[in-house]
Amino acid sequence: MTLKSASSVSVTMLKKMEILDVDKVIEEFEAMTKDAENVQRETLKKILEENGCSEYLQNLGLNGRTDPESFKACVPLVTHKDLEPYIQRIADGASSSILTGKPITTISLSSGTTQGKPKFVPFNDELMETTLQIYRTSYAFRNREFPIENGKALQFIYSSKQSETKGGLIAGTATTNVFRNSQFKNAMIAMQSQCCSPDEVIFGPDFHQSLYCHLLCGLIFREEIQLVSSTFAHGIVHAFRTFEQVWEELCADIREGVLTSRISFPSYRSAMAKLLKPNPELADLIHKKCSELSNWYGLIPELFPNVKYMYGIMTGSMEPYLKKLRHYARDLPLISADYGSSEGWIGANINPTLPPESATYAVLPNIGYFEFIPLKENAEEHVEVKVNDSFLSMEPKPVGLTEVKVGEEYEIIITSFAGLYRYRLGDVVKVTGFHNSSPELKFVCRRNLILTINIDKNTEKDLQLAVEQAAKLNAEEKLEVLDFSSHVDLSTDPGHYVIFWEINGEVGDEVLKECCNCLDRSFVDAGYVSSRKVNAIGPLELRVVRRGTFQKILDHYLGLGAALSQFKTPRCVGPTNNKVLQILCENVTKSYFSTAF
Ligand code: AMP
Repeated sequence: MTLKSASSVSVTMLKKMEILDVDKVIEEFEAMTKDAENVQRETLKKILEENGCSEYLQNLGLNGRTDPESFKACVPLVTHKDLEPYIQRIADGASSSILTGKPITTISLSSGTTQGKPKFVPFNDELMETTLQIYRTSYAFRNREFPIENGKALQFIYSSKQSETKGGLIAGTATTNVFRNSQFKNAMIAMQSQCCSPDEVIFGPDFHQSLYCHLLCGLIFREEIQLVSSTFAHGIVHAFRTFEQVWEELCADIREGVLTSRISFPSYRSAMAKLLKPNPELADLIHKKCSELSNWYGLIPELFPNVKYMYGIMTGSMEPYLKKLRHYARDLPLISADYGSSEGWIGANINPTLPPESATYAVLPNIGYFEFIPLKENAEEHVEVKVNDSFLSMEPKPVGLTEVKVGEEYEIIITSFAGLYRYRLGDVVKVTGFHNSSPELKFVCRRNLILTINIDKNTEKDLQLAVEQAAKLNAEEKLEVLDFSSHVDLSTDPGHYVIFWEINGEVGDEVLKECCNCLDRSFVDAGYVSSRKVNAIGPLELRVVRRGTFQKILDHYLGLGAALSQFKTPRCVGPTNNKVLQILCENVTKSYFSTAF
């Protein structure tokens, strides 16, 4: 199947029928993944034909060539920093074709939880179309296993503040740009998963008030709700932790048919007034259910008796929330949503029956051109690249989409329809297998999220495992690590790791001291262990922070223009993230040093 026919089928399918033809979507996907190498070639050709006239590509001397070999020879690997001046000029209103043939008119703000501040990335119609293609693909596979019919979805989705750049372009988070696009709603209808909340709630000006109204809408439509979702799993956990605080107020609103006066914005009040009617029976039922639950176990299926599954990104930095999610969801299936970023989509979850811990993402070969830098020890082959007519630098040599090897880890490089060429996204993925000839990827971690002082290297995943291990000691006391982060403290000599924990309730010093020792012992990386033994790295420090500290961090990001939908707790706070470090340090109530080793 040619690329053209693949995408035109999808568009007409949505236009013509209300309900998505899932068999057709799967057929399309199968055909495309069987021919992944050609589809990649065609995709690159299309990207370069559409954008070859841009200033960026013109300057690299491609001269109209669109084959992968010329592309790799002429175009350097870049990071966001390299593209910043170009993107800034676009944001400042330069009307010429800078990165893309058709000028960019919308900017996305990445969540910025890694670097400490949101990044600008270009957004366009092509990116929107690939977003819908990913949604349709995973839905088609999901619906085969867990069909939903005429359902409503309780979706904890939020819009960020949309601002205007200096040049008058609209800037909002990528999810906001997607939710605001008229095609999004049609797609949700076609997937029978329309959000139960009105637009005023999704796009409301205050996320605390939006969240409250989402919960209220969910309860009003409780019988119809067939799935509970958010972009990232954190959004669901955050919502039900809030429910634990406000459930009685929600019941009172339902009983009286009047929205609490805490919801102050008129847009919420008028939208909710249309849905709220006095309903004492429903209020009594919810009150009874909540009062009978033990520690909120199984809350979600109790509240929403027809829910089929929970949906949201659950891998990577979301894994620490799975335990809590399972607690609320009891035996409901947890299905991880797809893999992508503000910069572009990568793969769809086509194995929805796998638990999130094993979730993989099959790459869609027509949504971008993908390359992979091998990360196996010494596998980074380097090539000389020509920059401005002189051999200036050495670059790692990536392999193509169909050349990756099962079991190996790679850093992923994206070339998109939205002006990013050979862009290092910074994510590490592992190839777990192939679907036809397209690889299935497991998300491993962000490459730069590493705790390191000298020869030690610990990823976000290593941190997560260490925290899980130590939290088990806590669990015996029935206490829970609500959230965590880390920092490398080089102000001491030698430097040491600092782990921040927010826990619920009071835990005795003895237990926390033991947790601290356990954390230190749980970093099993050889570099860390040997450095600790010779005191080249000092004893690990566990700092307990006040309840609500991570909420303050979230509020800080929201203040910067981030949206709850895309929020990812920063798991490692570096020097570029001073404000978050300050929030953490100001809220420390107790600290312990490890006596292990
Ligand atoms: P942003 O564009 O700022 O919302 O963040 C995109 C980043 O979120 C990606 O580069 C990944 O690091 C992470 N991410 C997105 N999707 C997934 C997924 N399915 N599993 C794990 N991490 C993900």
